[in-house]
Formats: sequence, C-alpha cells, structure tokens
Amino acid sequence: MAVSKRIVLRFPPRLSGQPIVSRLVKEFNLDFNILKASITPEEEGILVLELSGEQNDYDKGIRYLTKTGVRIQSLSQDVLRNEERCTHCGACITVCPTGAFELDPATRKVTFHDDKCVACGLCIKACPPRAMEVHF
Ligand code: SF4
Ligand code: SF4
Repeated sequence: MAVSKRIVLRFPPRLSGQPIVSRLVKEFNLDFNILKASITPEEEGILVLELSGEQNDYDKGIRYLTKTGVRIQSLSQDVLRNEERCTHCGACITVCPTGAFELDPATRKVTFHDDKCVACGLCIKACPPRAMEVHF
C-alpha cells in the first residue's frame, strides 16, 4: 500500500552535510518533496517533507532516520496561538526558525503568520504566558 505523509525532520548539528535524505530515495525507494527548510540559531536543521512510497519502505526509511539521530515529528500536529493569552512581548520572534512572528513597529503588536509555521514547537517553551499551544 502506498503512503504519503508530511513530516518534520530535525537534524542535530553533527549530521549537517550528510546525504541522509538522498539515501531515503536510493535505499528505500521513497520520493520526497521539500516543503520548507531552515536552520535554528542552535544550528539544528529543520526540514519539512512530504515523504511517499510503499508502506514497508516508508517504515524502513523512518527507522533509518531515527537510527541516524534525526528526530521526526508528524505534521498532523498544529501550533496555534491563544490570542487571549498573548501579551505581545516578542519573545517568540527570535526563536522561530521560519519567521512566523512579526512585530508591527507602529502598534508594537506581534502578528502570528500561521502559514509560515512548521509546527517545530520551539515557541511553546519560549512564550512566557504559554500562549502558543499544540493541537493534535
Ligand atoms: S512569546 Fe507568546 S506572549 Fe510573547 S508575543 Fe510571542 S506569542 Fe505573544
Ligand atoms: S512552532 Fe512556533 S517556532 Fe516553530 S515554526 Fe511554528 S511559530 Fe515558529
């Protein structure tokens, strides 16, 4: 059975430059489509992929990724902002690797562009009033 899933891969700095994703194609017959790629200030690489192939190959590919030290997160989770809790402090702006938060200099309000969010979860701990929430 063929599957196609959207996942977030998080690469620790020691894995940067290694041909990990191309091995998914060569050794596990998987296809991928990169939806987003970024690097956090701690040099962790974040890749949002659509990964497709036969279920068996997909499972083997995921096992391979986990073994190499890549952390995998399903994109079925969504990160949302609880507007009532947000104090517009701006702490989330620097931690977000995809630039999903923007400060309006005129109003001093922080806008959340949820279309840029890759659900990495970094803003959740960084937000003092816990306005950023994971929804499954
Ligand atoms: S860190 Fe939290 S409270 Fe501060 S601007 Fe961002 S979402 Fe709002
Ligand atoms: S989860 Fe938070 S830090 Fe991560 S991309 Fe979305 S808004 Fe940015």
